[in-house]
Amino acid sequence: MNVAGLRFACQAGCTRCCDAEGFVYLTEADLGRAAAFLGLTSEEFTARHVVRTRHRIRLRKPRGKQCSFLEAGGCAIHPAKPTQCRLFPFWPELVEKRRNWENTAKWCPGIHQGPLIQIGRALETADEMRKAYPYLYPEG
Ligand code: SF4
Ligand code: SF4
Repeated sequence: MNVAGLRFACQAGCTRCCDAEGFVYLTEADLGRAAAFLGLTSEEFTARHVVRTRHRIRLRKPRGKQCSFLEAGGCAIHPAKPTQCRLFPFWPELVEKRRNWENTAKWCPGIHQGPLIQIGRALETADEMRKAYPYLYPEG
């Protein structure tokens, strides 16, 4: 995006991104961290919470909501939440396309709030997302 930076500050009490339509993907490290946080082995966590395909690991989606870890008080695994949750909204498809960033601002109340985050730093964060989930960003 041709701007100096982006403003963002996550808003206390908000959980809208956890309720947005989509899957929550995990890296192997995410899986291990979340399992340990809940006092489970990776195998136990996988059996209860994960759908694993050849290239992807994602959380199972419960009926009627987007994520089984979304509770009234917020994310039940907040200190060990998956990389994509931690990096939102600095995802490549949002940071690199102004229209997508502005569309996301319509439902994420943290966008356009808080300090100006230099565009270089925002792009570095987006790159972390690309590296964590290469199958979601096959072009690079
Ligand atoms: S929707 Fe935006 S403000 Fe709300 S929890 Fe997610 S990142 Fe934070
Ligand atoms: S794992 Fe936590 S942060 Fe990620 S979508 Fe679920 S409730 Fe939200």
